[in-house]
Amino acid sequence: MLPSESLSPATLAVHADDRVNILTDVAPAIHTSTTFRYPQNPQHLQPVPADSNEHLDLSSPLVYSRATTSNINRLETILCPLLYPGTPEQELVELSNHVVSYSSGLSAFHGLLVNVVPKTIAISEGYHGCHGVIGLHQKMHGVKTVGVHASDEEWDAAGLGKGDLVHIETPLNPSGEAYSIKKYAERAHKRGALLSVDATFGPPGLQDPFKWGADVVMHSGTKYIGGHSDMLCGILATRKGKEGAAMAMTLRGERMFLGSVLGSLESWLGVRSLRTLELRVQRQSQNATELVQWLHGCVTGDSEDANMVKKVVKKVTHASLQTSDMDWLNEQMPNGYGPVFAIETHTPQQARSFPSHLKLFHHATSLGGVESLIEWRRMSDSSVDERVLRVSVGVENAQDLQADLLQAFKTSCHITTTQQQ
Ligand SMILES: *Cc1c(COP(=O)(O)O)cnc(C)c1O
Repeated sequence: MLPSESLSPATLAVHADDRVNILTDVAPAIHTSTTFRYPQNPQHLQPVPADSNEHLDLSSPLVYSRATTSNINRLETILCPLLYPGTPEQELVELSNHVVSYSSGLSAFHGLLVNVVPKTIAISEGYHGCHGVIGLHQKMHGVKTVGVHASDEEWDAAGLGKGDLVHIETPLNPSGEAYSIKKYAERAHKRGALLSVDATFGPPGLQDPFKWGADVVMHSGTKYIGGHSDMLCGILATRKGKEGAAMAMTLRGERMFLGSVLGSLESWLGVRSLRTLELRVQRQSQNATELVQWLHGCVTGDSEDANMVKKVVKKVTHASLQTSDMDWLNEQMPNGYGPVFAIETHTPQQARSFPSHLKLFHHATSLGGVESLIEWRRMSDSSVDERVLRVSVGVENAQDLQADLLQAFKTSCHITTTQQQ
């Protein structure tokens, strides 16, 4: 046992899995087996109980990799103290079962809907793929949707109630703006609905949605949990307590039949990544906030740089600019406002061409990796305005990133001026 209680998530990201070590390797081994030998002694053979998920408990012997593998168990074990910060160590062993990993963020969301089978979902905007998953459920059994920011009367009219789902994403894709989890938790719980929070843009180290009433926390682990743009992963975690434990156990059992289990190599990469999660996301968030403050200062100022930036940038959006929300926002995101922000340009042409002038930002979709990315969002999401650029800030030096943006604004202005002549 570790000296428990007082250990912080940063320490547990490196040591939470010490208790599952059997080998003397310091770096965990890569296990790829899909199947595992049963005990040699026939007396020790334990057939699966009928109608029970018990064999899917993290402490059970490994059987087949569609249930779980040692790499997956290790990943879920390390994620546990990160997703439930401040939990005493003796509770962590049990609580690890509340963290269920999937082969992608969308398969996690699908797993959630298969579990809850809501008749109505309150959801608005956000990651387009989640709306695609809801589309599949609409096709299968006609689930209804209503705007998550709609009034109580509109929620009533949509029949939103017990057994239904309120789903918010915070911070939001692609704007990087945040919503109060507490507010939506209260609204959902008042009518017996569950609140799920897609916290991909605010990973562990930046916010704890359970603290504000989330029933289920979802992550696209492809983003910050993976952190190196080299693995797909999804995570669902259920709130503490009996109901959360029961839900997680069912999720685990259902994952077995969805077949959307995380691959062995991906889960090993995920373990490698989690060691540095807090370091990465806090640095990335700080970098993003510096760039946002600089850009916002330019949009509202009139220095030489500002005049150039203003010719391209109409508006910047990011949680750090939500000045009227700081009361709840500073409590919800005490360690930074998130590493993603959006730029709105004056014309679609500017948004289309700006990424090509940058040297340190790759023009690519996705986010969360150590490398800075920028995307003309219209490339992958048809619902987003054609003037939107989404920026995912990496761990590079913030001044270098700012200088790269500035030279790209200069090039952009130069091209526009030459075209006008
Ligand atoms: C990427 C993303 C998803 C989907 O995750 P995948 O791992 O790509 O399936 C869901 N929600 C948000 C906010 C995302 O950024």
